[in-house]
Amino acid sequence: MSSRIFLSPPHMGGRELEFIHEAFDSNYIAPVGPQVDKFESEFAAMVGIKHAAAVASGTAALHLALRYIGVQSGDEVACSSFTFVASANAILYQGAVPVFIDSDEESWNMDPNLLEQLFEKRARTKKLPKAVVLVHLYGQPADIDRIAGICNRYQVALIEDAAEALGAEYKGKAPGTFAKAGIFSFNGNKIITTSGGGMIVSDDEALIRKVKFWATQARDQGLHYEHSELGYNYRMSNILAAIGRGQLGVLRERVEGKRKIFETYKKALSQLPGVAFMPEPDFCRSTRWLTCLTIDPECSGTDRDRVIKVLEDNNIESRPTWKPMHQQPLYNRNEMIGGAVAKRLFEQGICLPSGTSMSDEDQDRVIRLVRTCWGMG
Ligand SMILES: *Cc1c(COP(=O)(O)O)cnc(C)c1O
Repeated sequence: MSSRIFLSPPHMGGRELEFIHEAFDSNYIAPVGPQVDKFESEFAAMVGIKHAAAVASGTAALHLALRYIGVQSGDEVACSSFTFVASANAILYQGAVPVFIDSDEESWNMDPNLLEQLFEKRARTKKLPKAVVLVHLYGQPADIDRIAGICNRYQVALIEDAAEALGAEYKGKAPGTFAKAGIFSFNGNKIITTSGGGMIVSDDEALIRKVKFWATQARDQGLHYEHSELGYNYRMSNILAAIGRGQLGVLRERVEGKRKIFETYKKALSQLPGVAFMPEPDFCRSTRWLTCLTIDPECSGTDRDRVIKVLEDNNIESRPTWKPMHQQPLYNRNEMIGGAVAKRLFEQGICLPSGTSMSDEDQDRVIRLVRTCWGMG
């Protein structure tokens, strides 16, 4: 059998090892160090923001952002339903209550009209959510201007979960840089990886200073160990930051590679009955981190699960799209605004192998196998 094709495996190829050697030569085998400092400043320059803090994961970054904004026990936080569970879990870490918002058909991300509907409803009882966690899914920005506008009008803090959207553009600027804070992830399957890690970015220097403090056990100034606040062990290792610097150097290439993979799939598969590819609104340029499409079983003669099975039988990894939070056992008692769009995107959605190291022959093989589900060779 041919070797396995993964969904989105790590793709090294920049100067990762060179920077790791720098880290070894300086003997900073530590959770801070010069590679971390450089990774932060290079990352901030790349996305076009003033300050950044490298942390152990995207989830940790989100937790720190929510805490800085003052989210606490009993607060509500509005969050995209169609996302990976980490977006919502960080809200629970603070003891707050997620309220989920459905997606729109244009971007597959948070529907601004439904967010506004929630705010109007809450304004009547004078208890607005403390924050909004806006997710940019699968490399595609949400309609940030509209959502930020609504948040401004109601004076609700906005946090962007751009874990999947590094390298994307919204009206020419990087998603993750529009809100009070933005977060990114360098987990193994993301567009660039440090094996595990995350970044929190902001134009607010005080925010970044504070989250770095919390991320290093909240140690006060002084000779001995003095602690007046609760902290965490959330900093990024200097070695992993070295990998991140190498990866940052090939980000542009990776985005173009991902977009090319998407276009190749689209050309080969979009004519199949019942198939619809993830759209791309005019206001943004997606990275197409994962190629996603929906298969309507009513008019395709096949379905999403069958395609996944055929691929798996041929040692090819594909996945259903994210199962929405309002359908998760952990969150299905939480309030949901709308829900039908995310539900359908999950029931019919599939992510095809989108690794930038995948050869043209391998992608051809995936395409041929998918077409067999429609009875075409
Ligand atoms: C990956 C991911 C996260 C969490 O990032 P980690 O680095 O894995 O903790 C958060 N939100 C979304 C949408 C993600 O895809």
